Amino acid sequence: MTELFKDYGIEITDDKLSKFEKYYKLLIEYNNKFNITAITEKKEVYLKHFIDSILGLEFIENGSLIDIGSGGGFPAIPLKILNEELDVTLMEATGKKCEFLNVVINSLGLKNIRVINGRAEEIAKDDNYREKFAYCTARAVARLNTLCEYCIPFVKKGGYFVAFKGDATDELKEGLNAIKVLGGEVDKVKEYDLDGAKRTLIKIKKIGVTDKKYPRGQGKERKNPL
Ligand code: SAM
Repeated sequence: MTELFKDYGIEITDDKLSKFEKYYKLLIEYNNKFNITAITEKKEVYLKHFIDSILGLEFIENGSLIDIGSGGGFPAIPLKILNEELDVTLMEATGKKCEFLNVVINSLGLKNIRVINGRAEEIAKDDNYREKFAYCTARAVARLNTLCEYCIPFVKKGGYFVAFKGDATDELKEGLNAIKVLGGEVDKVKEYDLDGAKRTLIKIKKIGVTDKKYPRGQGKERKNPL
């Protein structure tokens, strides 16, 4: 798989490669029990989960990172494998998926990484997490306007929320109000092609403080987005 990483400009050491090998085996082993991914063919997993996650590194430097709705660990675990300096918190609503994430962390021997079983809209009210992170990431969790209300409250002033999206032209237009209301501004947008599929990275900078009334909870983020 070294060549595949190279095709996307990713240099990978033998140690990191063996971590991805283990991760792939665990995904397959636990998939039936925990329903983690619809993609199981090896090259596809490497492309659509591992490489897709790693490409976000362009927008992420060292510091603390919280990943919302991690599922099987994307994008945060591949980001952590590539950059061991990142201090990572994975947040996931489903207990079974959290069990899987802990198996991956222990099997790969990853340090400074932890799992929280909870919902973003509830944990964001906790002062131990609110406005505390240099980065927040999320992939395939909700539309951008809803997602901003889940994610931006976790980011400290001067930090960034990086959304991993497909074709996001409409979502971006639709999300501009939420970004502003929650104290952010669009910093960079990168569109690229991943094996024929359009992908978009949206980097939002936190320039203010999020009003305590957000996230609103009771499903309002989804039912009535900002
Ligand atoms: N991010 C992973 C990926 O890209 O493969 C998983 C995507 S999966 C479609 C969405 C995940 O987000 C699910 O595991 C779900 O349990 C979790 N999720 C959805 N809403 C959430 C919330 N409000 N707080 C925490 N987790 C949430």
